[in-house]
Amino acid sequence: MDKENLRKNWNGLGEDAVSGMLEWRQQHPKATFREIEQEVDERLAVMRARMLSDAAVSSSSAEWMIDGRVPVCPNCGVELQKKGKKKRKMQTRGGQEVELEREYGVCPRCGQGIFPPG
Ligand SMILES: [Zn+2]
Repeated sequence: MDKENLRKNWNGLGEDAVSGMLEWRQQHPKATFREIEQEVDERLAVMRARMLSDAAVSSSSAEWMIDGRVPVCPNCGVELQKKGKKKRKMQTRGGQEVELEREYGVCPRCGQGIFPPG
C-alpha cells in the first residue's frame, strides 16, 4: 500500500472512530468518566491495530532483502531460503489480533522458520 492509500485508510479509520464516539455519547449522556474512557480505548484499539498492521506490511522491512542482503538464520548465520508469503498473527498491546502477510524463510541447516527481520 502506498502512502496516499495509507493516508486515506487511516483518515477513514479516524473518522469512523470520531463519528462512532459522537454517536455513542449521544446514546449514553449519563456515562461515567470510566465508561467513556473504556469506549474511547476500544475505538482507538481498533484503529491502532489497523494502523499497526498496515504500517508493518507497507514498510520496506516487509520485503525479503534487508539492506540488499539475504537475511540469515540468527542461530546458524546461514542464508534463509525464501518460502513465499505467509500470514503471521500478532497481538497488539491493546489486545487486538492483527494478521500480517510477510515473506517467510526457512533455515536450511536448523530448519527454523523465520519472518525476517524477526
Ligand atoms: Zn539455522
